[in-house]
Parts: sequence; structure tokens; C-alpha cells
Amino acid sequence: MELDMEPQRSPLLEVKGNIELKRPLVKAPSRLPLPGSRFKRGPDQMEDALEPEKKRTRVLGTTTKFATSYPRAPAPTAVPQTQGQTTAPKVPKRTGPRCSTAVATVLKNQKPGPAVPAKKPGTAAAPPKLGGKKPSKRPAWDLKGQLCDLNAELKCCRERTQTLDQENQQLRDQLREAQQQATALGAERRTLEGELALKRAQAEQGQRELGNLSARVLELEEWLGTQEGLVQELQKEQLELQEERRGLVIRLEEQERRLQASEAALSDSQAEVASLRRETAAQAASLAERGERLHGLEMERRRLHNQLQELKGNIRVFCRVRPVLLGEPTPPPGFLLFPSGPGGPSDPPTHLSLFRSDERRGTLSGMPAAPTRHDFSFDRVFPPGSGQDEVFEEIAMLVQSALDGYPVCIFAYGQTGSGKTFTMEGGPGGDPQVEGLIPRALRHLFSVAGELSSQGWTYSFVASYVEIYNETVRDLLATGTRKGHGGECEIRRVGPGSEELVVTNARYVPVSCEKEVEALLHLARQNRAVARTAQNERSSRSHSVFQLQISGEHTGRGLQCGARLNLVDLAGSERLDPGLALGPGERERLRETQAINSSLSTLGLVIMALSNKESHVPYRNSKLTYLLQNSLGGSAKMLMFVNISPLEENVSESLNSLRFASKVNQCVIGTAQANRK
Ligand code: ADP
Ligand code: MG
Repeated sequence: MELDMEPQRSPLLEVKGNIELKRPLVKAPSRLPLPGSRFKRGPDQMEDALEPEKKRTRVLGTTTKFATSYPRAPAPTAVPQTQGQTTAPKVPKRTGPRCSTAVATVLKNQKPGPAVPAKKPGTAAAPPKLGGKKPSKRPAWDLKGQLCDLNAELKCCRERTQTLDQENQQLRDQLREAQQQATALGAERRTLEGELALKRAQAEQGQRELGNLSARVLELEEWLGTQEGLVQELQKEQLELQEERRGLVIRLEEQERRLQASEAALSDSQAEVASLRRETAAQAASLAERGERLHGLEMERRRLHNQLQELKGNIRVFCRVRPVLLGEPTPPPGFLLFPSGPGGPSDPPTHLSLFRSDERRGTLSGMPAAPTRHDFSFDRVFPPGSGQDEVFEEIAMLVQSALDGYPVCIFAYGQTGSGKTFTMEGGPGGDPQVEGLIPRALRHLFSVAGELSSQGWTYSFVASYVEIYNETVRDLLATGTRKGHGGECEIRRVGPGSEELVVTNARYVPVSCEKEVEALLHLARQNRAVARTAQNERSSRSHSVFQLQISGEHTGRGLQCGARLNLVDLAGSERLDPGLALGPGERERLRETQAINSSLSTLGLVIMALSNKESHVPYRNSKLTYLLQNSLGGSAKMLMFVNISPLEENVSESLNSLRFASKVNQCVIGTAQANRK
């Protein structure tokens, strides 16, 4: 029995020790009869695992399963279990219910049971030890002894059962405890697993956050790089700005210095301005006074100018002898003489002597009679070499009178080819040297009007240019389809109560500069050229009348003055030889000539009537005098050029012209009155 009770370390204790050591159950190699896997199944399953034990307990007394259902029982003896030694130890092993059954069977049969013989003889040498005393072999008859042995054995078995029960109970307790611990550990494990999962999730979250943060860090590093670049740029810019600022400060100081200087200069200037203002006011007053005086002087000048013109005569006659042209026969020496005036050769010539040899007059000696001398005296005589400028110089004062408000008429009288057109319009080729009176007079007027504008006078000029042929008036400024024909023009009064005359259908063109006048003269020449093809040399058979209406106004003083300047290129004054045979062409020519002569003689008569202050002045006897009636007589001033050919062959016509001019020259028209309003 000592061997049976010898405590061998129980696997359960080992388990318990493991539990107490808190080692993980799963990892500890279990020596429990139950497989470790069963342990894992949980308490219920463990209960099931224990179930055979319970069943075994419940079925104690039955022999069917005893031998097999207790495999875990430790070897009851220390005897080595060898083959052939099985019988003896088997008996003591059969404790508990099995022993009882055997006893019951023996008691029942009352015979030495056949069971004993069943034992192998070899096994009898080792009977089970009870109470430390080796039972002696009872004889078969010693039933009582056997019974006693059995009782002892039974007692022993009971004790052992009790011990086993206690042990079982302990094991159960341990098991329960272990289960509880396992449960607790399971719970703890789940908690830990939960925590682990949580930690893992946290770790993953942390990883993600770490990743995000890394990305963010990269981003920030990049941003930092950019910012650093920016900072560098800004620093550079700051340096530049500081540099610029320094420059600006220097400039500012310079500007301030300049400003101070300017302010000083300004105050000086202001003082100067104030003084200048005072001076200006004084000068304005003096200017007004001077203006007043100037106006007075201008009026005085006009009066004196007019007086001078009147002293010179309101009708003046200038004689102009043209030079001998290329191809013309040279006149005999002394044919024309230009004696000096009373003041000697420095005086401008005013006399002309023409010598005419009369072949019809003979002398007693048979020698040709000496040429007859014809002396003429005019306001001025221009010999052949006189230039256009020289001629204009003499009439400039007269033209000035037109600006002052006195009507002026300038005529060119003489036979065809004597130089009338040359004198009035100028020579061919547009050479300024040979410019005639019309362009020169207008240039002079524009110039003087410009000067008078500073005294408050404003002048305007309107030009017209007509031709009177055979007592019909034609417009020389006609354009378009009327060019060359000029249409039928009539001389009419502007209005019923007005003395002012106007040519109907004629163009009145405002002019303000030389160019415009040149254009008008060019147009007139074109018109004459077209007419010449239609009727031969009509221009020399007609009067050309250039009229310039001058209007002046002094708004400051409410003064107005107006006058007309008339520049007339008269038709050829030659007469037809009455002895010539009259063919159809000549008859026409005669009619023309009669018309011309009539109008020229009417002009002479008008001048005579004006000079004689006759009550009736025959203006209406010719279109020419009718057109010029407001510019003849009264306040008007008249100048007549008598153009003379230098040729001896023209001596007769020259004498006629000179005689006509001399008659005109003897006329004196009463004091002229300026047309002031
Ligand atoms: P009119 O008009 O009297 O018929 P013109 O003026 O046509 O005469 O003159 C006839 C010619 O004589 C023209 O060729 C002209 O150029 C020329 N002539 C006239 N006067 C002068 C002069 N003073 N100097 C030079 N040539 C002149
Ligand atoms: Mg002419």
C-alpha cells in the first residue's frame, strides 16, 4: 500500500502549478488525461470530459467496465509489471465494487470459488499487502478468515475510495478554479485582443497619420523652399527699394532745394508781375490814348491824303509810251521827246513832244518841211523804259483813296497795240516784273487793309470782271457752259431806291489774297481766248471793266466806309479810214468802231459835263459810263492812262489819243466826298 499511496506528482497539480504561474494554458504542454484541445473547448466541454468519471462513480459495483474505465489509476504497486506477474497484483487492484461483487459471489456460492483456481500460479507469490501485514494464506475452509480479509480489504478499498473522492474533489475544485481562471483569462484575452485590435487600429491610424504627416512635412518643406526663395527675392527687392529710396531721397532733397529756389523766384516773379501789371495798366491807358490819337491821325491822314489827291486833281492823266517791240521799225530819232520839268532832270517827266512830218507840206526851196512839234503836258509822262513798278508807284496813293472810301476809276486809253492791256493786267508769261496794275493794286489793298486791321478796321473785297462789246455786257468770270459766252448781262440797280448798280448774271467773287486775284485774271484771259476764236480780236474792240467793291468797318467806333475801285482796259481808240472800201466785214467793223467811238466819246462827254458841273451828265449814253456812273464825278477820283505807240506809223492815232487825253486833263471835277456812312 505504501507504493500505492506514494505521491506521484499529479498532472493536475502540474496544471494547477501552471495556472498559478499564470502561464498561458495554450502553450503549456498538458499532461492531463484530457487532451489539451479539449481544454480549449471551454468549461462545458470540460464537464463532458469529466463525465465518464461521474458515470464510473455512479456505476460502482458493476464489473463490466471497471478494468477498462480506469486507465489513469496509478499502478497500485511498485512491482514492475512484467509478463507473468499479473495474477498477484491483480487481486488487490480489484478494490471497490469489484471486491464486493467477488465477496458476494463467494458468499452466495459457499464454495471455494473457481475463481481462485483461475489465477495463475505464478501470481500468487505477490499477494496484495493490507495494513502492512502480509495475509497469510487462508485455507479454503477458513471462510471467516477469508471474510475478515475481505472486510479488511474492503475497508482499505473504502478508505482508498474516500481518498480518491477527496482527491477527485480537489481536482474538481482545481478544475473549476482553472476553468474560472481560464474563463477569466479568456475574458482577459478577449479584452487584450480587443485592446490589441484597438492598438492595431490605432497603430494603423497612427501609420496613416504618420503617412499623412510625412506627406504634409514634404509639402511644408516644399512650401518652405518656395517661401525661402520668395524671402530671398523680397530681400533682394527690399535692397533695390532701399537703393531706390536713397536715390529718391537725394532727388527729393534736390527738388526741395529747387522748390525753395523756385518759390523765391516765384515771389520775385509775383512782385515783378504786380509791377508789370501796373505797367501794363499804365501802358493800356497810354495805348488807348495812343489809339485815340492814332485814329485821329488816321482820319487826318485820310483828309490830307484826299486834299493832296484833290490838289493833284480828281481827274488825272498819265501818258505812257510803250517801247519799240522786236521786229518793229525804229522810229526816227527825235520823233518823241520827253522834256524835263521845271526842277530839271531829277523831276519826273510831265511833258511829251511829238514831231510829225507832214509830207503834204512843202517848202519854197523844195526841201521837206520841218516836222511839226506837238507838245503835251500831263500829270505824269512815262517814257518807253518805265517799268510797271514805277507806274504803279504813282497810282498807289490813288488806290489808297479807294480804301479811305473814295470811288476810283483808272482807265487805259489808246489805240490797239499801244500797251493798254499790258499796263492793266501785265505782260505775258506771268513774270512778276511785268505784272500789271490790277494785281499790284489788289496786293497793295490787301496789305494796307491788313495794316489797318490793327487799328480796328476790317475790310472785305468782292471782285467782278465784265466786258462791254458792242454795247453788250458779258461776264469774263463765267465758268462751265457759260465760259466764253458769258451770257447776256444787264446793268441794273440793286434796289428801287438804291443808286448802287449791279450786273445781272455776272459773278461777284469775294477775294482776300493775290492767288485768288491771279485765278480770276487767268479765267478772264481764258474767256477772252474762247471769244477770240468766234470773233477775231474782239478783246481789242471791247472795254474790259474790273471792279472791286471795297467794304471797310470799324466796329469799335461804328464806322463804315465803302467804295469801288474800277480798272478799265478801254477798247482800241483807232478810227476806221473812211476812204477804205467797205466790204461786208468792214461794214461790221465800222459798226463796232462806231460803237466804240460812241462809248469813248460819251466817256469824254461825261467827264466834260462833270467838269463843267452840268446838270445833265449823259451816263446813260453808253453802257460803259452807265456802269461806271457811281465812280465818276462827285467824290470819285479818276486817272486816265493814255497809251501811245512809239512808232512813227501810228503818229496820227497817237496824236488823236493825246488830244483826247489833253481834253480830259483840262477837266477838274469838284471836291470829292468820301463815301462815309
Ligand atoms: P493793247 O492792249 O493796247 O492793244 P497790248 O497791251 O496788247 O496793247 O500791247 C501790244 C504789245 O506791246 C504786246 O505784245 C505787249 O506785250 C507789248 N507792250 C506794250 N506795252 C509794253 C511795255 N511797256 N513794255 C514792253 N512791252 C509792251
Ligand atoms: Mg488790249
